[in-house]
Amino acid sequence: MDWQKLTKQQQTAARVLRHAIDRHALAHAYLFEGPSGTGKREAAILVTQTVFCQSPENERPCMTCRNCRRIASGNHPDVVWIAPEEGAASIKKEQIAYLMKEFAYRGVESSRKVFIIDQAEKLTAQAENSLLKFIEEPHPGTLALLITEHIHQLLDTIVSRCQILSFAPLSDQELRERLKQDGLPNALLKASAALTHDYESAAQLCKMEWFAEARSLVIQLMKRLFKSFSSVLPFIYEKFSPNFDDNQKLTVGLDLMLFWYRDLLSLHLGRQSEVVYEDQMDILKEQLLLWSSEQTIQAMSLVMDARRQLDAHVNGVSVMERLAIKLGGNINEL
Ligand SMILES: [Zn+2]
Repeated sequence: MDWQKLTKQQQTAARVLRHAIDRHALAHAYLFEGPSGTGKREAAILVTQTVFCQSPENERPCMTCRNCRRIASGNHPDVVWIAPEEGAASIKKEQIAYLMKEFAYRGVESSRKVFIIDQAEKLTAQAENSLLKFIEEPHPGTLALLITEHIHQLLDTIVSRCQILSFAPLSDQELRERLKQDGLPNALLKASAALTHDYESAAQLCKMEWFAEARSLVIQLMKRLFKSFSSVLPFIYEKFSPNFDDNQKLTVGLDLMLFWYRDLLSLHLGRQSEVVYEDQMDILKEQLLLWSSEQTIQAMSLVMDARRQLDAHVNGVSVMERLAIKLGGNINEL
């Protein structure tokens, strides 16, 4: 992450930070809050590099000096990261005690010290109270960066002592780009981004075997609904339903079906770039020739009805059965 990129992704946060840095007037505590995948950690690293860089240009870090590199790899002696220990649900008082001990001394290599608390909402109440004193009476040269996805879970007393910077959620397009940079498969990431609108959840879905199978089953179902309706019900009983065996999974399945029809609609409107099932373009285009946009919208409302039935705890297999028959009826009206 560099300043140009942060400004592009999070204009407000970047502007506030740049303004403070350019005037040499950074606050002593910032709270970066916002959904996952919005660059809060990267921004914390960038601000820290800006503070410590040995050869900055216009107050922008060079990224190549020893300090910039050590901060990027988490190895700078005057930068302390605190997060829940592996497998632990919270940040404990002892971790804050360690931090305070570390900060009782001047910086090892300079007069500056930065501490970064990741997942700050996971501080225990005790830990938060010890931290509070620390933030209230900061040692000179100390910068605190707190990061959270759940600002409302933090004590008001902590929040009110930090300057809050909100990181805006990513657009679906930005989310897809980030997932792509992570090397996740294109076919899966489009569907997972459309489902979750959240970086962590989308990345997690892409890595689940079940999700790849779910997407493939939905594609098979959509092809059958379109081309060989007589095989649809046996397919639902034997293949589809066993893989969507609880309401949460079936809700995902119905959303994946909805994306199929939404893709048809996007194609009707000439918005090819919005298509989720990019790799199924041949069959989508074939269906596009036969289905009007009215029919497509009608199919979408049938899927949404099915979703509501599921919310009302109707049995999943019956929901799918009824939906398939109605969608089949929609096709037969041609
Ligand atoms: Zn540098």
